[in-house]
Amino acid sequence: YDDRDGYIWMNGTLVPWRDAKVHVLTHAMHYASSVFEGERCYSGKIFKSREHSARLIESARLLDMQLPYSVDEIEAAKYAMLEANGWTDAYVRAVAWRGAGPDMGVSAARNPVCLAVAGWEWGAYYGDAKWQGAKLDIAKWKRPSPETIPTAAKAAGLYMICTMSKHAAEAKGCSDALFMDYRGYVAEATGANVFFVKDGVVHTPKADAFLNGITRQTVIAMLGDMGIEVVERHIMPEELSGFSECWLTGTAAEVTPVGQIGDFHFQVGELTKKVSDSYEALVRR
Ligand code: PMP
Repeated sequence: YDDRDGYIWMNGTLVPWRDAKVHVLTHAMHYASSVFEGERCYSGKIFKSREHSARLIESARLLDMQLPYSVDEIEAAKYAMLEANGWTDAYVRAVAWRGAGPDMGVSAARNPVCLAVAGWEWGAYYGDAKWQGAKLDIAKWKRPSPETIPTAAKAAGLYMICTMSKHAAEAKGCSDALFMDYRGYVAEATGANVFFVKDGVVHTPKADAFLNGITRQTVIAMLGDMGIEVVERHIMPEELSGFSECWLTGTAAEVTPVGQIGDFHFQVGELTKKVSDSYEALVRR
């Protein structure tokens, strides 16, 4: 993975892929002082690029880190990285973290805040599962309270239980896991938000304890334009049996139909296909 050609933008310059390294005493590695973005570039244009850059700065701020770059500078870094690699279609990963420095302990205000922007080619997130409807496990871990951790930040620390839950799901032959939150409400998947359909109305969990995804917000607006009612509310897991369709949204996942969550089954229905097709058209417009 590290011995390959290509370029990564790191702290102000493009460096060869092989040289994009950090020290083992990097604060982020010990204390999870890291935030990141996942973005997709379609035909030379990153979808909602400025929104992602602004969210990165805001995630860092929520972790008490002042990113030493503006939205414009992050935009320039992303496009410089894409151009250096010759990519027009790629996944873009920006990551900001507190680096190694004079402070080795928890408190590390003197250590620099670093930024890197990498990318890679990444097809359908759920692979072939996409068109059959992805199969989801129910995670044993719960999304934490916003009083426990800044749940609105796209912060590395929030992904510890995502990796654990996704590994457990994959071991059972599932593509992903669906989390409930600390109150027991349906929350999100390990890297995507979730939507349900019942009698032509769309229901999606209220984003009060998890990442309010940029794709989620895009799809809600798209459904509004289609004249379809969307209800953002608390959803109990017992309600899963009453929904006919289900899909996930996320930058990597795009709009992915869900066929099964635990013992509950969903059809890859007309509305799911319409939303997926409309999203695909929108990102390439
Ligand atoms: N929730 C989690 C935990 C995620 O990692 C992601 C992907 N960033 C999302 C939701 C969806 O966010 P977005 O649509 O902004 O990619």
